[in-house]
Amino acid sequence: MSDAAISIRDLQKTYKGGKRALDGVTLDVPRGQIFGLLGPNGAGKSTLINILAGLVNKSVGEVSIWGFDIDKHPRNAKASIGIVPQEILFDPFFTPIETLELQAGLYGVPKAARRSMELLKAVHLEDKANAYSRTLSGGMKRRLLVAKAMVHAPPILVLDEPTAGVDIELRQQLWDYVRTLHAQGVTVVLTTHYLEEAEELCDRIAIINHGRLIANEPTRALVGMAQEKVVEVTVDKDVAEAPDAPCFDKIELKGERTLAITYRKDRVNAGEVLAALQQRGLGIVDVSTKEADLEDVFLNLTRAANANA
Ligand code: ADP
Ligand code: MG
Repeated sequence: MSDAAISIRDLQKTYKGGKRALDGVTLDVPRGQIFGLLGPNGAGKSTLINILAGLVNKSVGEVSIWGFDIDKHPRNAKASIGIVPQEILFDPFFTPIETLELQAGLYGVPKAARRSMELLKAVHLEDKANAYSRTLSGGMKRRLLVAKAMVHAPPILVLDEPTAGVDIELRQQLWDYVRTLHAQGVTVVLTTHYLEEAEELCDRIAIINHGRLIANEPTRALVGMAQEKVVEVTVDKDVAEAPDAPCFDKIELKGERTLAITYRKDRVNAGEVLAALQQRGLGIVDVSTKEADLEDVFLNLTRAANANA
């Protein structure tokens, strides 16, 4: 059996009506990591997570959670994972503390082992313990769902678009909590549209597009896959028109003496770019470069995948 936290083999999902949301995804989530699942809207992220949660039935393929096959050992698989779905759904008439107690009951957590108040504290909702859920803000509800997913202390926590509708300060608190869980050894899987966030948080990132896996790399390797690089150069005289050179992919006049030059770092290096400017009579006063972020990688990869489709 695989020692991955989550192991997915040739996973396919075709919804009634014929929409193929997952088209043969094979993927391992290593234990102990924060794993990011990225992809544009409609890529199939929630479908994959809802299959893990037992909310959607797969069409083809094999999935095991913490070594438990979801078809052969559904109870053990379910006990090993806590899931915060994208859609916020719970009873508006229960208070947060009641919501957690109820969930603990559903998972058979004995009264003595329950940590409801501790969990509310961890997600900064202790002062809302006795408020009706319907009076909570969107961000508070999402954090309550995170606490709810952790009542049975699963080794894996999955968050589907956890920052949707959460303001920046609360988002930071949520990530602090995710990091705390990670430090305690919990494996975390999250989907997000905020690529900088994935870059900051995740050890490894997979990208899906049209139900297919198009990348699955350690975060640093993925960032390195972005080939476009921009160098901003301040020159020693006013420039009326941006000069051209074969090694520039694109050049933009940012100010009278500032040029932004895009080049492909797999073809040329910054030295050649600067030399080309000097050959055109421009002295270099200052240079700054911008590292490619995941947004660039993501766009390049999805573009390439669409072109190959
Ligand atoms: P993501 O979470 O990446 O935005 P989803 O998994 O929600 O993507 O959706 C993947 C595709 O499956 C989309 O085209 C979506 O419209 C479709 N889809 C999702 N849920 C259903 C459903 N219950 N019935 C039919 N099609 C669905
Ligand atoms: Mg989704």
